[in-house]
Amino acid sequence: MNLYFKEDEVCKEAEKLLLDDIFSSPADKEHYLVLFKEYRKLLKQMRRMVKMSDLMQNELKILSHKLEQMSSIDSLTGLFNRRYFNEVYQKEWLSACRSQVSLAALMLDIDNFKKYNDTYGHLRGDKCLQAVAEAVRKAVKRPRDMVARYGGEEFVIILTETDASGAFYIAEQAQNNVRQLKIEHTASSFQIVSVSIGVAAMIPSSENHPEELLNMADEALYRSKSNGRSSISLHTKE
Ligand code: GH3
Ligand code: MG
Ligand code: MG
Repeated sequence: MNLYFKEDEVCKEAEKLLLDDIFSSPADKEHYLVLFKEYRKLLKQMRRMVKMSDLMQNELKILSHKLEQMSSIDSLTGLFNRRYFNEVYQKEWLSACRSQVSLAALMLDIDNFKKYNDTYGHLRGDKCLQAVAEAVRKAVKRPRDMVARYGGEEFVIILTETDASGAFYIAEQAQNNVRQLKIEHTASSFQIVSVSIGVAAMIPSSENHPEELLNMADEALYRSKSNGRSSISLHTKE
């Protein structure tokens, strides 16, 4: 749609009046011409301003997209995002390598979440994700521990200076916190929203790759899923 349709119409009408020469005196016509020129000048200015505002809005969009990419926070859950998690994880890995202390990783995944969305809709799905994220976040207490949204309905927890049994304890806390939300999920055999968790811990050395610990937690999570979900599995490496 032409945004300036009305203005163009007005100009056309005004020009028509000039051609029809409807003026009672040359002075009237002169006055009319002056006003008409002024109107066209203002119109031109207005169009330039609208164009500038469009450009600025585009610029703003690009900037806010960049800002989002630079941000460390996941906008839906308020947890740290995957990008920031990767950054911190690399640092914690190196730190654990240097001081030869145990580092633990927990992978958490909401059970049957596709069915949740199918049953209750995507909006309630988002609300559920937010509530689960908060419940999981509450399970960690130490300032250096980190909870992040790893992917869609998947979360990751990194616990520094924590061995397998300590990590398992936190996994139980997280799982209980989610259970206590008692979010109805009729399409799940548990009737409420639950999470499966994979736990892994290791004292890393320079021979290990940082991915190893995450892969171990992921394998353990897979076992929890295979065991019927809503469960915790542990994977350890000396
Ligand atoms: P499983 O117990 O094996 O994990 O089954 P699942 O259904 O949870 O796993 P699946 O990978 O099949 O489906 C994940 C679903 O999570 C599908 C996807 O639409 C949903 N999901 C991912 N991110 C979001 C989100 O931000 N909001 C909502 N509402 N749903 C999401
Ligand atoms: Mg899932
Ligand atoms: Mg998943």
